[in-house]
Amino acid sequence: MAKVEHEEPALEWDTPLYRQALTQLDHALELAAVPDFVSNRLRSPERALILTLPVKLDDGSYVTFPAYRVQHSSVLGPTKGGIRYDMAVDLGECAALAMWMTWKCALLRLPYGGAKGGVRCNARELSMNELARITRRFTAELAPFIGPQLDIPAPDMATNEQTMAWMMDTYSMQKGYAVPEIVTGKPISIGGSVFRHEATGAGVVMVIERACRRLDWELGEKRCAVQGFGNVGGIAATELHAKGARVVAVSDISGGVYAGDGLDIPALHSYVAANGSLEGYEEGVERITNEVLLELDCDILVLAAREDQVTGANAGSLRCKLVVEGANGPTSNEGDRILGERGIRVLPDILTNAGGVTVSYFEWVQDLGRLFWDRDEIRRRLADKMSDAFDRVWNVSDERGISLRDAALVAAIHEVSGALEARGVYP
Ligand code: GLU
Repeated sequence: MAKVEHEEPALEWDTPLYRQALTQLDHALELAAVPDFVSNRLRSPERALILTLPVKLDDGSYVTFPAYRVQHSSVLGPTKGGIRYDMAVDLGECAALAMWMTWKCALLRLPYGGAKGGVRCNARELSMNELARITRRFTAELAPFIGPQLDIPAPDMATNEQTMAWMMDTYSMQKGYAVPEIVTGKPISIGGSVFRHEATGAGVVMVIERACRRLDWELGEKRCAVQGFGNVGGIAATELHAKGARVVAVSDISGGVYAGDGLDIPALHSYVAANGSLEGYEEGVERITNEVLLELDCDILVLAAREDQVTGANAGSLRCKLVVEGANGPTSNEGDRILGERGIRVLPDILTNAGGVTVSYFEWVQDLGRLFWDRDEIRRRLADKMSDAFDRVWNVSDERGISLRDAALVAAIHEVSGALEARGVYP
């Protein structure tokens, strides 16, 4: 049979962020040496869902919110990934983040593929009742496409345990019985796991500790700056502070605070709990902008806010020695290239922030087995998974002389490729 010349179409998710994920993938594919059919399959998500959600606001008016769910690869198991509520949510963002979830799950050897979804909305401007209605409508529309063996949502930007409780309840009401294993990151009272809330931030610090060991650094002597003070950055800052590191700066969307001798992290948390953000905190600190935080003179810079923070425009001005990606995709490809040339190592997102999805996996396993583990058990299992992945990435990076990101991607691609080759293409 004659070979059909086929040009890959640029589909609707083809946005700058998706291009960033694809460029990383293409670069890693050159190093990974996998069959062509595997490379082609992994360059596109398997399924992408576009929804419009009609929702009644508290003032009686109706608004239609765009919403998405993208499932990148189901070859290793059900797809897994968060749901975010953010004004930047679009198909391309979800597709890029879904692809990164595939690599993250594969690297950690979890039996999952990647997914991501979200609603384009400004969660800060919506009441609890409005958020509940958005979440319940979204879940009802998603119901045919998600499931404990199909696709399992979790929290992401501006969503939390409460959001997951609404999702679990909506799905369960449709089934007629409680289905805790439909989402992870739920409240403990309905089948959530202890230590899930802290898992991403704690995992970030586990990776930092292992990197310090390899670099011959004493964490207690290091100056850290943390961009983002939410579920990832806030907890990472607490763990770093508890381990004796000097956290000299933190920030959130309202801006940042700096203290050369180290910040009082517990005091900052109490302030945010009472006031909603860091805005207005002046006690013994200098106010700084997010831009200034990134360029501070420090040892460890934790990026735990959002995508595209270190770019071609500022990577040349960073003064840290180690960049730690707590967020997904915080370094653009150009930023990454410049950091590489400057000899600044980057602990890549798919390794560094994988603690969240790893404890999500433990939560799902516990829900399916209806048997629950204690905090020490989960912390120990998480530490084992994170250090195993860290060692594989660091060793490959050293042995092959490639960046930690490339080493992580190559390791992840090999996991997925092995499964794809064994399964073949249906029919
Ligand atoms: N949203 C988190 C992430 O980006 C967690 C996903 C999950 O637990 O499924 O990794």
